[in-house]
Parts: sequence; structure tokens; C-alpha cells
Amino acid sequence: METTATQATMALEQAHTSGVYPKRPVVITRGQGARVWDEEGREYIDATSGQGVALLGHAHSAVARALYEQAQTLITCPEIFYNDRRAQLMSRLTALAPGGLNRVFLCNSGTEAIEGALKFARVATGRKGVVATMRGFHGRTMGALSATWEPKYREPFQPLIPGFSHVPYDNLEAAAGAIGPDTAAVLVEPVQGEGGVRPASPGYLLGLQRLCDERGALLILDEIQTGLGRTGRWFACQHTGVVPDLMALAKGLAGGVPMGAVLMGPRVGELPSMSHGSTFGGNPLSCAAALATLDVLEKERLPQQAAEKGEYLLGRLRRLESEKIREVRGLGLMVALDLRERVTPYLMALMRRGVLALPAGPTVLRLLPPLVITYEEMDRVVAAIAEVLSQEEIGKKDGSERG
Ligand SMILES: *Cc1c(COP(=O)(O)O)cnc(C)c1O
Repeated sequence: METTATQATMALEQAHTSGVYPKRPVVITRGQGARVWDEEGREYIDATSGQGVALLGHAHSAVARALYEQAQTLITCPEIFYNDRRAQLMSRLTALAPGGLNRVFLCNSGTEAIEGALKFARVATGRKGVVATMRGFHGRTMGALSATWEPKYREPFQPLIPGFSHVPYDNLEAAAGAIGPDTAAVLVEPVQGEGGVRPASPGYLLGLQRLCDERGALLILDEIQTGLGRTGRWFACQHTGVVPDLMALAKGLAGGVPMGAVLMGPRVGELPSMSHGSTFGGNPLSCAAALATLDVLEKERLPQQAAEKGEYLLGRLRRLESEKIREVRGLGLMVALDLRERVTPYLMALMRRGVLALPAGPTVLRLLPPLVITYEEMDRVVAAIAEVLSQEEIGKKDGSERG
């Protein structure tokens, strides 16, 4: 039998890949807006945004232009020197952030932003403990992994960092019981992402902030998935008026180019020289991409659009009638359909119908579309979901297939 280009690419990558990723049998080669195409030219609506990254959609011309121009000017410049693009980005980002968060440490990924925040919290307080939450996800390097809840991510790598505890999410009493005199920080997502798309109830973050203030601990908000417009505000904490002491950002920050950031408020105090650092952190290429991304988010009012589109998408999904749906929940364009069955066969069936979606735990179908997705594209996503939910045989298929 003849080998197609798709089969050849899959075989080549399969021969050398680490093996740590459950892969779907599709070769994505191109994107535009909320759509991507595979090697055979089939079109998909990308309701994954490449794990929540492509806020502006794929191949946005403003990001492409900024990258091209910056690449011809200066790609690398470590933070021991000053740089025009970096200075502009720091100024811009801190102006957007809620009051008081006016210093930035730049890095290259989400997990690195969490590592930085954890180190800064320890050095600022002189304390060791970290209170994190059940179902929380913060990354996979050893510090961030110590704060991540999922046992299958953690257990193979023990012993992890001592001093971390996990309390039930959205439960102030449990947090109050865990924050003690050696607690450096409470680390929490405003809406749990990987843990199933679970928005905190309104008083939770405010309560955590008050507890932290009273007991001398710092509040770290992980806004890596929720930040930069995803939930309908620039930052999810702005739905509640909470200003954290440290905020971690990454994912969509530089329009798809790797970048992370830790924003710091006044309670962090001065950090000792050389106490942290990163070779690539704050490189002009990523800074230029981030500046272009913030421009587009602002000019096209994408946080506002995410609020409106999210409400529309949630409304459409809530009107679906299916025994298989346990709950529909979300905030802005961070949306979940909690099923009574395992989600993987549905993700595969959706892919065959031209819609890419994510899991968030075993039964949750998660939609993180680009903020530029159109209403017509959202209708197509909803129609495809309705179709796969109506097919009796899908849920009965082998649920061990991985998503
Ligand atoms: C994706 C994510 C991370 C980890 O980011 P990486 O860039 O994959 O290291 C951490 N926290 C949250 C909430 C995330 O969604």
C-alpha cells in the first residue's frame, strides 16, 4: 500500500519522539485565525488554541510582522543589558495589570513563571511553606510539580520539594486551616484549567487575599491560562477586585512565541541580586511579539469579545439536550462540558468532524478557542458537539483510547 505524506510524517516523528505525549493521528501544518489545516488539506476549527496559547488565532499578521522586523534588528540580549523592546513591554504589561503589580521577571514558559514566583515568595518572606489546591495544575518542573495536584504527574518523581500542602479548591475554611506561620505563599488558579475548568466562587479569592494579609503569606495567582483576556477581563482576578502579590503569566502572552512572566506587587520587596535569572528571559524577539499581541488584544477589544462570545457559547451549549451532559460551566472563552462518560472518544469523533477540542480530566470536554473565533465558527463547534453526543455508539467504544 502507498504511504501518504501524513503516514510518513507520523512515522518519522513517532520514531524519535520522547513518548511523553499522547498523540492524535493528525499532522497540523498550517493555521489562520481560528482554523488549522492538516497535511492533506483538511480544515479544522481549533478550539484548543494550541493549549490556550493562540489568543489572536494563528498566523496573525501583526505578530508575524513584529517577529520579522525584530529578527532583523536584534534577537538576543540578556537582562544584564537594557533593551528598548523589553523596557516597553515591562511598562505596558504593568500598566495593564491590576494596581501595584509594577515589577516583572520575564522567562520562557508557564512552569518557569511558577518557579520564579515560588522562589520570590520564599526569599521575600523568609518562610518555606506553600499551600496549593486539589486539582490545581501549575506545571511540570520540580517546584511547579510540587504544587500540582494530579498524583499521576507527581508520584513517579518523588521526593518533591518539602513544605507543599494541598487543600480543597474554593474552600476558605480549608485554606484558613492550612496557612500557618511558615507559609510563604498560597498558590491558586482563579479558574482551574487542567483540573476541569472550575471557576472559583466570588468570595474565594478575596478571602484568600485577606487570610494571606493577616498571616504574612503572599498570594500567588496562576493566570497562565486565564490571563490576557481569556476569561473576559484582562486578568481573571479583575472579576473579583483581588490584587495578588505575585501573578504568573505565559501561554498567550507573546502570541504563540514562548514567553512567561511573573508580575510582583509591593509586598514582594527587593529581590537579592543574582537570586534568580534566565538566559532567554526577556529576549527582544519574544518582547516584540508580546508587544504586538497586547496591541491587537487592546485595539480589537478581545477581552470584551471573549466575555460576549463566551456568554454566547455557554448559552448555546446549555441548550443542548443530552443525557450525557452532567454540567456546562466556564468563564469567558474558557468553557467546559462535563460529561457522564469518558471524554476521549468524543474528542476523536469531533476531530473527524473538523473540530479540535481538549480534555480537562477524564470526563471534561474543554474549549479554549482563539478570542478571534467567529460566531459562525462557534455555531459549527456546537453543531459538531451536538452531533457526536447524539451518536449512541461513540460512548460505547473503547474509552482507553487517549486524548
Ligand atoms: C499551561 C499551564 C501551566 C504550565 O505552563 P507550561 O508553559 O506548559 O510550563 C501552569 N499553570 C497553568 C494554569 C497552566 O494552564
